[in-house]
Amino acid sequence: MANSKFEYVRNFETPDPLLPNTWVVVRVDGRAFTKMCAKYNFEKPNDRRALDLMNTAAKAVVADLPEITLAYGVSDEYSFVFHKSCNLFDRRASKLVSTVVSTFTSHYVFSWSTHFPDTPLSFPLPTFDGRAVCYPSVQNLRDYLSWRQVDCHINNLYNTTFWTLIQSGGLDNKEAEKALAGTLAADKNEILFSRFSINYNNEPEIFRKGSVVFRDYELVDPGSNNIAQTIDSVAEPIKQSKTQAENDKKRRAKARILVEHLDIIKDDFWDRRPWILS
Ligand code: ATP
Ligand code: ATP
Ligand code: MG
Ligand code: MG
Ligand code: MG
Ligand code: MG
Repeated sequence: MANSKFEYVRNFETPDPLLPNTWVVVRVDGRAFTKMCAKYNFEKPNDRRALDLMNTAAKAVVADLPEITLAYGVSDEYSFVFHKSCNLFDRRASKLVSTVVSTFTSHYVFSWSTHFPDTPLSFPLPTFDGRAVCYPSVQNLRDYLSWRQVDCHINNLYNTTFWTLIQSGGLDNKEAEKALAGTLAADKNEILFSRFSINYNNEPEIFRKGSVVFRDYELVDPGSNNIAQTIDSVAEPIKQSKTQAENDKKRRAKARILVEHLDIIKDDFWDRRPWILS
């Protein structure tokens, strides 16, 4: 493109590269989904169709962006983890976030009718916000993911008890809120069990643990000693030959993408799948 006298305005663009050699998490969150739930009659506390739709959209994002090594979703949010070696868009935050948000939203809207065959999409249409955060160590990244999964557990136990008190116990919202004020996890488990014969641990795993999206390679026996546990000990940039990088890319593109409902706080998930963080 020829230079023009207008071109100087490009200098008003502020660079926003994310810190190199860090794990980048882009989290998207549904905008005003409390209202969306009411408008589209989501089942409370957990509408399985809505969760499956979130997972379909997340899977499509992971398939579209091979630099994403793992994604974790709960409620109306999804966190996408870009490998620390990722150089997509020269790590420009606005490019990464906007691409994830718009890819996710497109697929969410495109797949709506598959998951909600009897509920046509109208207005307001679903929209999502997004942000990017860099985590310098594997420990920080795992703590981030643990934070989200603990949040899932705490909210789901609360919501399950709250809605059981309303739907099966005949309380109204205010009364249910009051009944739960100051209660601990053990109290909520007890309310569910003694009053409604519900064993919280038998609730579906997708509700209790959220959803993890990752590429499927052969599982590693946790007893073997080739587990990459020291990945984090020295924060070295990952150096790869061109061909190795190309092969990895092909391998990633071919791998099946799974959506599972697993504990990602304990070591086992990571020990058995060392490729995710290596
Ligand atoms: P914001 O725009 O600030 O994110 P929000 O209304 O989306 O506002 P969140 O904190 O993101 O607020 O909460 C999302 C709400 O949507 C929660 O009340 C959650 O229970 C509800 N929700 C999300 N997914 C489901 C689902 N699958 N089934 C039932 N309710 C859901
Ligand atoms: P990037 O992902 O970097 O943006 P790109 O292929 O989208 O890559 P752009 O610089 O955005 O590159 O260019 C958009 C291209 O799409 C141009 O080649 C433009 O001519 C073409 N294009 C956009 N809109 C139309 C249109 N309405 N009709 C025909 N061609 C179009
Ligand atoms: Mg939000
Ligand atoms: Mg929201
Ligand atoms: Mg949310
Ligand atoms: Mg373009």
